Amino acid sequence: MPDTIFDKIVRRELPADIVYEDDEILAFRDIHPQTPVHVLFVPKQKSLPTLNDCSAADAPLVGKLLLAAAAYAKREGFADAGYRCVVNCNRDGGQTVFYLHLHLLAGRQMPERMS
Ligand code: AMP
Repeated sequence: MPDTIFDKIVRRELPADIVYEDDEILAFRDIHPQTPVHVLFVPKQKSLPTLNDCSAADAPLVGKLLLAAAAYAKREGFADAGYRCVVNCNRDGGQTVFYLHLHLLAGRQMPERMS
């Protein structure tokens, strides 16, 4: 599996604006934010290219990405106002970095539809 930019961020070979970290997850600000708050949550230990590559054994990890995003929203005080979590998958999903990641988007009203 080829290295991605997120592999390098997880290994601290590239800089990132890290906002959260635990044993399994790293979260950092998106370099091209689409919303006032735009944070990416990635698994640290296992590089899964896309959501399609996740199996039932990865369910706890995928769930932890979502829960880490919710915990961050609560910690930062915008959980009640709301936010959006997005996982892009492959070409039609608009995925550009093939290392599983969850986008947390917040800080403004989202459009009702994504397209
Ligand atoms: P996706 O299109 O779902 O694969 O999302 C990839 C995201 O990674 C995009 O929103 C990019 O702006 C973001 N991105 C790319 N390179 C970096 C980087 N070095 N640091 C932070 N975010 C990045």
